[in-house]
This record gives sequence, structure tokens and C-alpha cells, in this order.
Amino acid sequence: MAQFWKPGTEKPRLVDDEEGGVLFFSASASSSSSSRFGYASIEKQRQRLPVYKYRTAILYLVENHATTIIVGETGSGKTTQIPQYLKEAGWAEGGRVIACTQPRRLAVQAVSARVAEEMGVTLGEEVGYTIRFEDLTNSGTTMIKFLTDGVLLREMMDDPLLTKYSVVMVDEAHERSISTDILLGLLKKIQRRRPDLRLIISSATIEAKSMSAFFQTSKRRRALEGEELGPRMDPAILSVEGRGFHVQIHFVEEPVQDYVQAAVSTVLLIHDQEPMGDILVFLTGQDDIDAAIHLLNEEAQTNRKHSSGLILLPLYSGLPRAEQELVFSPTPRGKRKVVISTNIAETSLTLEGIVYLVDSGFSKQKFYNPISDIENLVVAPISKASARQRAGRAGRVRPGKCYRLYTEEYFSKEMSAEGIPEMQRSNLVSCVIQLKALGIDNILGFDWPASPSPEAMIRALEILYSLGILDDDAKLTSPAGFQVAEIPLEPMISKMILSSNELGCSEEILTIAAVLSVQSIWVYGRGVHRELDEAKLRFAAAEGDHVTFLNVYKGFLQSGKSSQWCHKNHVNYHAMKKVVEIREQLRRIAQRLGIVVKSCERDMQVVRKAVTAGFFANACRLEAFSHSGMYKTVRGSHEVYIHPSSVLFRVNPKWVVYHSLVSTDRQYMRNVISIDPSWLIEAAPHFYQHHGQNSFGK
Ligand code: ADP
Ligand code: MG
Repeated sequence: MAQFWKPGTEKPRLVDDEEGGVLFFSASASSSSSSRFGYASIEKQRQRLPVYKYRTAILYLVENHATTIIVGETGSGKTTQIPQYLKEAGWAEGGRVIACTQPRRLAVQAVSARVAEEMGVTLGEEVGYTIRFEDLTNSGTTMIKFLTDGVLLREMMDDPLLTKYSVVMVDEAHERSISTDILLGLLKKIQRRRPDLRLIISSATIEAKSMSAFFQTSKRRRALEGEELGPRMDPAILSVEGRGFHVQIHFVEEPVQDYVQAAVSTVLLIHDQEPMGDILVFLTGQDDIDAAIHLLNEEAQTNRKHSSGLILLPLYSGLPRAEQELVFSPTPRGKRKVVISTNIAETSLTLEGIVYLVDSGFSKQKFYNPISDIENLVVAPISKASARQRAGRAGRVRPGKCYRLYTEEYFSKEMSAEGIPEMQRSNLVSCVIQLKALGIDNILGFDWPASPSPEAMIRALEILYSLGILDDDAKLTSPAGFQVAEIPLEPMISKMILSSNELGCSEEILTIAAVLSVQSIWVYGRGVHRELDEAKLRFAAAEGDHVTFLNVYKGFLQSGKSSQWCHKNHVNYHAMKKVVEIREQLRRIAQRLGIVVKSCERDMQVVRKAVTAGFFANACRLEAFSHSGMYKTVRGSHEVYIHPSSVLFRVNPKWVVYHSLVSTDRQYMRNVISIDPSWLIEAAPHFYQHHGQNSFGK
């Protein structure tokens, strides 16, 4: 299995140079940070970080500007240090809180744990975090709070001006997640009403100037008589000089067929030929990460010499806390850590000790086509900007090497320069409902950092109308619209929960909603397909995956929530524990909304009707005479197939609705349930009116 590497010449430039309109600060060591924490070594570490030299400058800018934009390479200390500097400077005094948002839940957990450790406090006290379904803060003592940008948006529903925060740091802004973009638009509005609020927008690479232009308000705030002059409204930009080491780039000579296999061979090659130093591998998701680990484990069994001393560690969202900690813990002497990660390690998390980087060139990305109204998760090529970021991960501690599993020609000719903001490749249903719930009525006229397409907007309005969430004037309906907005789930799942109330099956639907909120309740991995399929058969329900989930959940409870039971049945124990937790929270929310939590016992028809009431827009019909199991979406007539992981794979009922689509060689429906087509017209007469005769005729 020979791989031929050609050393490239590119040295990744990690920080874009800033030109005109930029405030420059000469870096000067700050004198004020005392070491009153008694953690000398951690204090030393903190002082060695690149942002430390800018401590005074950062505090000065935040004091004097409403908005400060901070650009600095990954690992320079933005996320962990800046909130601490702010706290040290008094921004958390008087019960105020410093917020720092992240697009990813795992990053929220990891960085808050690190900051608590640096400050020598218990996580959940002075430093806390909040992610959906998990709140580890203590109102009254928490001064620095890490949270996902989505959670901060939700907090605005109760407190539109975010009054408890003195500073909001929107971190990882370059990722341009949909929630980050909405947040930026809303924060800009809030700033006009709250001159005391400070914003920090930080990122690894950013078009700092376009972000600055976005926050540049033309109107200068005038000082009213007797009132203090507030901060300057023109944003400040600060660029933190990085000090990444040189990373030597290697490309493959020929395109690779299977990037998982290629990544595995490359890891073994590095281990065989290169001096010690940890390896970071970028793959796309839990499935291919598990597959790669399985292959490496197999190798370890057959060829001990080849792989002795390797510590294999996965890293993806949804990873249990204990396993996250292993990723960050120091590598034992004489061992080599191999972290196999999604793009979460691209900029959100810093791993120490990485010297070798293997880049598959792919990540999982959401794409949405407003014409077909199809959104799916696709394994797609990354951008050049991402490739450079990934390479930079190898140069943190000493010069490193980056192995790209694509050709140099591909890199220079095919890869796009930058990624597309998520806002422009997503279904906007959740986004619209959140803005509506915050009283933003003119959504098309909203001040976005990147405008969504009008087609996508119209699609979202149409679906929300059909779901009974918006009325003829595009206002939230009462109570349904407000209730759906209150539930922290996709609107279609929330609608399903509301419908279950009328249908008398909320016990069952809450379980289904909880399962749909975790990644997967099954344990995947290459080579265990057959065992997994057999395990699934024990729970499989003829109606489809949703009813199968109910069987698994029941079995889990009957086993006394046993991890052995999970192991035996190829069920993911951590996912099931999460399901139980989420379900409990949903039950409380449902009760607050006046939903009577009630079981339909064995009547699965009402369960299927409730699912249809939420997911009618995802209805599909089996093509007549199709031997390949081809379905067409009822709206749009797009070709889709049942995913092999579904219990309905090869069963192919005539009518189904699905929860989501994934696309590889084909468009596959994940989580599928069989329905009766008459329920569609019942659930959404408006939505299907044009299709009435044609689609539903036999
Ligand atoms: P940035 O946000 O600029 O990418 P961070 O603030 O996340 O940088 O990280 C700064 C430094 O803190 C890292 O280079 C690393 O040395 C250290 N660090 C961050 N998180 C951890 C962790 N979980 N464990 C150990 N060290 C960490
Ligand atoms: Mg960071």
C-alpha cells in the first residue's frame, strides 16, 4: 500500500493581513495580571499565549468601543483568555455576566472546563456553561458563561435586551453558523438600546473589514445633555499575531478512492517513519471516524509491531465527557496519540502536541435547495481556507507536517476559496420562527450579515403557514405558534408534540422527539453491520423507525438502564442516557405548555398520525413498478431512497414520511415511518392543495 508524498512548498498563512481602517497596537507585555490564583504553572502558561501581549489593548478597546473585532490564529488564547481578562478588569462586577458564545456544544463544554481549571474554580460556579438541555450555571455566582449561539438566541425570548450581560463575545464568527449570523443581526439592534453593552467578535480568520462594515452605524449617537458620552460606535479591529511554526505540506500524487482507508494507511505510515508527535486526522462524522478506528484496531491485532504505542481517540459532537477528557489529556511518554476528529478541531478546540495532520479534504455540510425544498447533510469538499486552518493545527508546538489526501492540482483548481455562510445553504424554518418569536416581523428587511435567498425565505413562510404556526399575516398563531417557538427543537418536531396532545399519544411522541434529538441510538462501525442488523431486528416495528425507537426505549427502561443490555443489543448507552434526560426535560416543557402527558398504549396509528402532522412536508411515495425501492417526494417529485440503516430498508411501504435526508451516491431518507396518504391532506390541506388529484390518485 504505497503512498507517494510530494513535499509542497506552501507555508500556511494563518492570519490574513489587515490593511486600511485598522487600528494597530504595538504589543506590550501587560503588567497587571497578578498571580493570585496560586496556580503558578497555569499562570505561566497563560502568559505565554499570544493574546497575553494584547491584554491591555483588548481591555482598552472594549472599554472605548461598542464593538471590537479580534482576529487571531487558533490556539492564540482568544476563547479561554479574553473572558478572564474581562472578569479581571471588572466586567463581571455587580452581578453582571460575561457571555462567550460558540457554534458547537462540545466546544462550549471543553473550553468552559478549561477556563474553570485555569481559574481554580468548580465548573458551574464562577465559570459555567449552558447548551440545549444542559445548564451548568449558578445564577448569582456565575461570572463567565459559555453557551452556544443558539442558546443565547433562546435567552432573548425571555430577556430581549440580554440585560444580565455586560459583554457578549461572539466567538468563532468565521464559521458563519446560522445562529451566529442571526445573533449578530440582533446584537446590532440591541446595541442601539443598550450603550453599556459591549460586543466582541472573535475568529480565526475573518473578513474583518466586512464584519466591521456591518457594525458601522452611519448615525453617530449623540450625547444627551447631562449624559456621559458612551463608547465609540465605530468598531475596533485587533489582529493578534500568531506564532505558528512552519508546516510542510504533502499532497497525494493520485486522487484517493476511499479517504477513510487512505487516512488509516497514512497514520500507519507516519507512525512507521516519523519521529514521535501526535497525529490529528480530519474525517467527516461519527460514522467514518468509528470506521477508521475499527480499521486501525484491526491492524493492531494483526500487525502488532506496526501499531504498537498508538492511542486512538475519536472526537465528535455528542462524545461523552469522559472521552472528551482523554483527547485533551497529555500523551504518555513513548506513546503517540491519534485523534480522529470532525472539523470541530479545525478552529473550535486546541489540541496540544499535534505535529502531524492528515486532512481528508471533506467535511459534512448542510445544503438546501429551496426549489425542491430539500435540505440534506452532504459529505462535501472543504474550502481552501479550511484546508489552511487544518494544516495550521500541526504547527502549534514545533514545525509540523500536513498530509493532504487530495492532489495539489485539486487544491489549487477545484477547491473554493471560502465556505458559504450556513444561512445561504439552510432551510430557514427555525430561523424564521425564532425571529418571529422575538417580534421581528419584517424578516426580509432584517439586517443580515449575509442575506438568505428570498426563495428559501418564502419556502419557510409557506411551511410554517401550513404547520399552523404562522397566520395569514405571517404572525405567530396563538397558542400553537407561540408554543412551538417555546420548545427548543426543530419546529416540525415541536408541531408533532403539539399534535400528540390532541391524538392522546404524547408519552410516545416525547420519546420519539428525544431520540430524534440525539445523533444515533445505534453503535456503528465497519464490520459489525451484520450484528447490528440482527440486533435491530429484535426491536424492528413494521410501522417504521419511530415505533422501533419506542421498543428500544422500553427495553432500555426494562433492563434498568443497563449498559450491558445496550452492549448486547448494539445500542449506544450514552445516547440512551441522553434520551432519558432530554425526554424528562421535554416532559416538563410539555406540561408547562398545558400538554397532557398521556399514553396511547398499543395504538400506533395515532403515533403515525402525530408524526405526519409534523413531517407532512417530507412525504414520499414509492414509485409504481420500482424494483430498486425508488421513492419520489410528493412535493417536487425528487428521487429518494430509504437509508440502509432504516428498519424499512427493503420493506418499502407505499407511503412514508422521513425525518431527514443524507446524501452520498443517492439521497437517502433517515428515520422513516409508513403513513396513510389521506393523513397528509388532513394534516396540511393548504400544503397539498395543488397536488390533490395527481399525487394521491392510485
Ligand atoms: P483560541 O480561542 O485563540 O483558538 P484557546 O483560548 O482555545 O485559543 O486556547 C489557548 C490555549 O489554551 C491553547 O493553545 C492551549 O494551550 C490551551 N488550552 C485550551 N484548551 C485546553 C484544554 N482543554 N486542555 C489543555 N489546554 C488547553
Ligand atoms: Mg477559540
